[in-house]
Amino acid sequence: MLHPIPLQQTLSWQEQLANLVTDPAELLHCLKLTPEDVGYSAEALADFPLRLTRSYMALMQPGDPADPLLRQVLPHHDETVPSAGYTNDPLDEDASLAKPGLLHKYSNRVLLVVTSACAIHCRYCFRRHFPYSENLRSRQELQASFNYIGQNPQINEVILSGGDPLAVPNRYLQWLIDALFELPNVTRVRIHTRLPVVLPDRVDRALLAIMGRHAGKMVMVLHANHPRELGDALESACVRLQEHRVLLLNQSVLLKGVNDDPDTLCKLSERLFAAGVQPYYLHILDKVAGAAHFDAGETRAKALHSAMQLVLPGYLVPKLVREEAGGFSKTLVL
Ligand code: SF4
Repeated sequence: MLHPIPLQQTLSWQEQLANLVTDPAELLHCLKLTPEDVGYSAEALADFPLRLTRSYMALMQPGDPADPLLRQVLPHHDETVPSAGYTNDPLDEDASLAKPGLLHKYSNRVLLVVTSACAIHCRYCFRRHFPYSENLRSRQELQASFNYIGQNPQINEVILSGGDPLAVPNRYLQWLIDALFELPNVTRVRIHTRLPVVLPDRVDRALLAIMGRHAGKMVMVLHANHPRELGDALESACVRLQEHRVLLLNQSVLLKGVNDDPDTLCKLSERLFAAGVQPYYLHILDKVAGAAHFDAGETRAKALHSAMQLVLPGYLVPKLVREEAGGFSKTLVL
């Protein structure tokens, strides 16, 4: 077995975010692999650039071309093969836009696209073709979204999404969350993020202070797909978030070649529990163009979910769900 990749952890999260791995040659060199070993494709790279943190790269196993973390970020030949039924906007989000960047799909909650930036580019991302330039708004322009939320009193929860909403500076995040809670009908703000998983240092004092201002009203839905993504640094970040009364949940995507076996999924739930995070959803892959090779299939998904139920207590079995264009809630698959 080759030695793990050394990690120098002396940089702030902002410096780490400015120093991402974006060059496939560097990634493969660090992992002691060749493009041929892993099926690398420059054409896939041109469609969706490579992007990952050095702390995420350090969790990969050098010398393993099938490493499940590498598979999630590597531009692969399979992405360039067209597949029937796979489209650029599989959830028809365009039809749910109440305002630019504000999706109103489910009656009592809206989703605000805060940024296009991510610390990692996940090859299966259903927003990999999202028209961010048409949907990002300045502080001033966001007033139209705030007005919409205020004029729809049934909306009590706002989901911050992206991109990754924790990729924005703390000062902006605080302004945004404070502004949302000034609306009398907003009782919860939920943050969908992969950043604490791929860059645990993101959970800094300033972020905790923002969470503390709205203790008991903040929900953070992490996105981890494999138990090896959950290291000690994430665990301590989660403890600090819980000290500020942030409800921590996790959603995963079922990915062929990454986590489509019962042992991996059970270990993921156990690791989440150890970090104080509730396994929430296991998503069936959204049919986004370029991601068909990640599809484990619904029959396999059901079998895996049943296998988890045989091993884990109910509270550690995430709901198996599919998101459907035009649906008024997620569809439970079982
Ligand atoms: S939005 Fe989330 S899933 Fe998509 S690339 Fe960014 S971090 Fe990955």
